[in-house]
Amino acid sequence: MKTKAALLVEPKTPFIIEELDLQEPQNGEVLVKLAACGVCHSDYHLVTGTTKHPMPCVAGHEGAGVVLAVGDGVTRVQPGDHVVMSWSPDCGECYYCRRGKPNLCATFVGPIWNGVMLDGTPRLSWQGKPVYHYCGTACFAEYTVAPQQSCVPVRRDVPLSVAALVGCAVATGVGAAIYTAGVRPGESVAVYGCGGVGLSVLQGAVLSGAYPIIAVDINPAKMTLARDFGATHFLLANDQTVAAIREITEGRGADYVFESIGVPSVQEEALEAVAPGGMLTLVGLSPMGTGTNLPGSVIVRQEKTIKGSYYGTVNPRRDFPLFLDLYKAGRLQLDQLVSQQYRLEQINEAYAAMLTGAIARGVIVF
Ligand SMILES: [Zn+2]
Ligand SMILES: [Zn+2]
Repeated sequence: MKTKAALLVEPKTPFIIEELDLQEPQNGEVLVKLAACGVCHSDYHLVTGTTKHPMPCVAGHEGAGVVLAVGDGVTRVQPGDHVVMSWSPDCGECYYCRRGKPNLCATFVGPIWNGVMLDGTPRLSWQGKPVYHYCGTACFAEYTVAPQQSCVPVRRDVPLSVAALVGCAVATGVGAAIYTAGVRPGESVAVYGCGGVGLSVLQGAVLSGAYPIIAVDINPAKMTLARDFGATHFLLANDQTVAAIREITEGRGADYVFESIGVPSVQEEALEAVAPGGMLTLVGLSPMGTGTNLPGSVIVRQEKTIKGSYYGTVNPRRDFPLFLDLYKAGRLQLDQLVSQQYRLEQINEAYAAMLTGAIARGVIVF
């Protein structure tokens, strides 16, 4: 079949809208008609070239849609199911899956980095040549074929344009607070960056009963947004930010600090903002090859913990449905995360808007 898709032919070029060929789902694979896909910064690393990936490729990893058809051996979903795409598919059998760490599943790491399915081949092609699937999801397309482990069935009474956000920003942010860091009631939290992920960390901190919840961003327009998502304090990022966080926390710094941007200099500052005995959680994805200088003397003397958070330490099959239940119960705000909707043809415009840092999350709807 054919599918319209936003194709990235090589780094440092815009996305182009093309009609691609899409093979039917093979053993263990699922054909999904996408309804929406969020505009996440991680895809943009492909455009800048800081994430190396086989090209041409179809990016997009924060998608949701409806299952149209399944290949042989598919047991997790059936046609008609609403699914949120998981960019960290869990096989259920490997070392990590068996130890309750499905976000670290090892089975799909190789195929995902090669842009292919488990059998080593892609399902997409263009002008007779292979096109690679970013994250195994390739959601910047009307249709995609993905491993069944990438397709998490969810309740049908949530708009798919909202459900899509659960597949990256919400899982990453809320999960970082409640699972990776394990924030508890009354503990203090500071969050650097108020994009889709940072705002979701704020919501996770609210769910955990944290206080105070301090949001930091370079854009003053994020103040209202941050407060709407549960921040009790908002700080405009400047050279006084650490001092201001200490002042709010009786001089100590925050028990938990989250860096949601992936910028090494901000990660370094965020460590300073952590109270002795506290934890820095790195949530934002830094460009490959960058380094962060985290001083051992401070980490030892003040017994600070630094943790990486990958996909918010979530279990997609447990947590995607949970987060949508919380949304339906009014405990998670997802509608307000979507600041702008775009058509697929507007994808370059959507990324330009993301780069201004002025919006929460853009979503492409099909
Ligand atoms: Zn993402
Ligand atoms: Zn696994």
